[in-house]
Amino acid sequence: MAPQTASLLNGKALAQKIQLELKASIEQLQPKIGRPPGLAVIMVGDDPASAVYVRNKERACAKVGIASFGRHLPHQSSQQEVESIIKELNQDERVDGILVQLPLPAHLDTVSLLLAIAPDKDADGLHPMNLGRLVRGEKGLRSCTPAGVMNLLEEYQIEVAGKHAVVVGRSILVGKPLALMLLEKNATVTIAHSRTPDLGAMTRQGDIIIAAVGKPLLITGEMVKPGAVAVDVGINRIIRPDGASQLVGDFHFDSVAEVANYITPVPGGVGPMTVAMLLQNTVLSYGQQV
Ligand code: NDP
Repeated sequence: MAPQTASLLNGKALAQKIQLELKASIEQLQPKIGRPPGLAVIMVGDDPASAVYVRNKERACAKVGIASFGRHLPHQSSQQEVESIIKELNQDERVDGILVQLPLPAHLDTVSLLLAIAPDKDADGLHPMNLGRLVRGEKGLRSCTPAGVMNLLEEYQIEVAGKHAVVVGRSILVGKPLALMLLEKNATVTIAHSRTPDLGAMTRQGDIIIAAVGKPLLITGEMVKPGAVAVDVGINRIIRPDGASQLVGDFHFDSVAEVANYITPVPGGVGPMTVAMLLQNTVLSYGQQV
């Protein structure tokens, strides 16, 4: 096997750096505001993966000095019950950011719950008002995972303007807002999805390829242009032939790392950046109090 030539885009290290910066800015702001920033994560039900994500977010909050006002509601909670908690948190002056952990149980209407969050407390950047601001290129709270990808590219001084960026995946959570952010930075953007007939033909054109699909090892080295930048948003759990479980992305890491210039690891790439951007959005809203 040819050796790995790609350099790693280390999201874990950058997330730690951002958290230190946030901690310092909270220490500066707190005497003026008279309270720490607050983030409320609402979780409905007992999805084990969501529970891990919520725990990670609350741990990261504690590290930088953000108070957590998490609410864990039973699976059978009604739309009205969840909505009234969101409204209560909208009014709570100790809370700067509100996040509804997705996915929600099927009987709940996600879109109308996201709409209930006050747009200036929308720490996940998924309220239609904030998505609309992104479409218009106006300031606003940006969705965390795509913002994390953009920060990672910037940290490694990867030029986006004039480059061909191929985004694989078109979800409202990742693919679509990411395509808009790349466009805002003057990339030429192609979005591929499950109905794209020849995915390899698309990805081979990309100077920057971002995979946000959720299909393990979908994109292999031969689908990547030599010298490209490969950013892997996908998180997939697979069972290896020896029976052990492993987290992998949407890229076939070994073969892509042979041809790309840069690649994100999974785990340790985009995942930690998502959490860092959530904290950053909360501190941004908090700073508006001054
Ligand atoms: P969705 O399931 O909402 O979207 C997946 C997208 O991939 C869809 O647009 C779908 O197309 C497209 N797709 C599916 N199969 C193919 C295929 N064979 N070829 C090309 N495109 C395909 O997922 P999310 O956007 O929510 O998440 C994507 C991945 O990112 C998941 O693994 C998730 O766990 C991970 N994730 C990671 C985060 C992080 O912090 N690192 C945060 C959020 C998500 P179509 O629209 O046509 O169905």
